[in-house]
Amino acid sequence: MNTGRIEAALLKANDTADVGIGSGLLPSVNEMFERSFGGQRAVVVADENTFGVAGDEVRRHLEAAGRPMVDPYVFPGRPTLHAEYAHIERLTQALHAHDAIPIAVGSGSLNDIVKRASYEARRRFMSVATAASMDGYTAFGAAITKDGYKHTMTCPAPRAALADLDILRNAPARMTSSGYADLLGKVPAGADWLVADALDVEKVNAPVWSLVQGPLREAIGSPAELHAGDDHALDSLIEGLIMSGLAMQAAESSRPASGAEHQFSHLWEMEGLGYNDEPPLSHGFKVGVGSIAIAALYERMLSRDLSNLDVQTLVSRWPSWEQVELAVKEAHKTPGLDTAAIVESRTKYITGDELRQRLTRLAERWPGLHKRLREQLMTADQLRRMLHDAGCPTHPSDIGLHLEDLKATYYRARMIRRRYTVLDLATEAGILDQCVNELFAPGGFWAPD
Ligand SMILES: [Zn+2]
Repeated sequence: MNTGRIEAALLKANDTADVGIGSGLLPSVNEMFERSFGGQRAVVVADENTFGVAGDEVRRHLEAAGRPMVDPYVFPGRPTLHAEYAHIERLTQALHAHDAIPIAVGSGSLNDIVKRASYEARRRFMSVATAASMDGYTAFGAAITKDGYKHTMTCPAPRAALADLDILRNAPARMTSSGYADLLGKVPAGADWLVADALDVEKVNAPVWSLVQGPLREAIGSPAELHAGDDHALDSLIEGLIMSGLAMQAAESSRPASGAEHQFSHLWEMEGLGYNDEPPLSHGFKVGVGSIAIAALYERMLSRDLSNLDVQTLVSRWPSWEQVELAVKEAHKTPGLDTAAIVESRTKYITGDELRQRLTRLAERWPGLHKRLREQLMTADQLRRMLHDAGCPTHPSDIGLHLEDLKATYYRARMIRRRYTVLDLATEAGILDQCVNELFAPGGFWAPD
């Protein structure tokens, strides 16, 4: 772990005050707990798998140090735990029976369950990672399934987070691969932020930008080594993931870590892609395929000169809100998502006059933006190779999607989030259709085999 980098990030983070990354850290879990929670009681929360991997050891270290403890709360290990609201209700109820501070020992879903349940029980918590599988450990908010629909629920990040490489190293390989793909997504996500910045939609916050983008190239630079079990690569990965969470805290937004590639993954997630697989299709694997797809779109965009668009014609063809609303209703029928997509699309809808201003700004700024995007992005081929080397799926068919589903996602994904991305730029510039058709035409990036 780069201590200076983490310390600098902690100064900016709102919720998390203490992060430990390294080998052999688990035995010092009590000291870390003490720094944040003094002499308070602790309760380990895990599932049967993660309890065996690290939860029981955490409990023993705390007990050996004389820490007052409540009996561990352990979810079943099979089938794989999902972040369903019913689990949160049960855990919250159990937490109300005492005043102990929860220690979440697990990865994505377990961490999200404890994060939200702790919030509902009006308590802070500590996180002990068992896999470098996603960037949510130090992020605020939790992705929870309620009434069959995936919600992002409010709740603060943990007060303290511990990641022992000796534990992470032994996690299933697919979990490390998933974390790699989630982190790789920060490449196109950064590009989307540059687009939003150039068009004065959402300015880049330079200190927050550097928290994510600073260590990123190194952290994603050794996919084959990571997949082969290299410790340095694993250390860089978990640090990158934790930095990403801290950056979201500092920005009070997921913008630093999430762009159109995450809109792809959220859409597939909300429609239940791979939800009932055992193990379920991971967040990171969807982000990985989304990242390749967005990088491929950027390539089509960057091959064009967007400084000489026919603004007058584009404005005259710009749809009214009523037309957009119909299109959103046509594109999204999933209960919950259907109404949410209308709200999100309405929030970022602009009028014809606003479109004129935006495209005029684009014309002025395209040369500079083009240059910044070229520096930020990698080609879709590069991303595909890196993901492959890290053991990740790279083709939609690897994650259970047909090419036509992927093609439709280029149009549908932007409707579900208000965040401005390359999908909005392509739509406003009137070139989304052309670019997508090029990608799926013979010889294009997504040409059928
Ligand atoms: Zn993510």
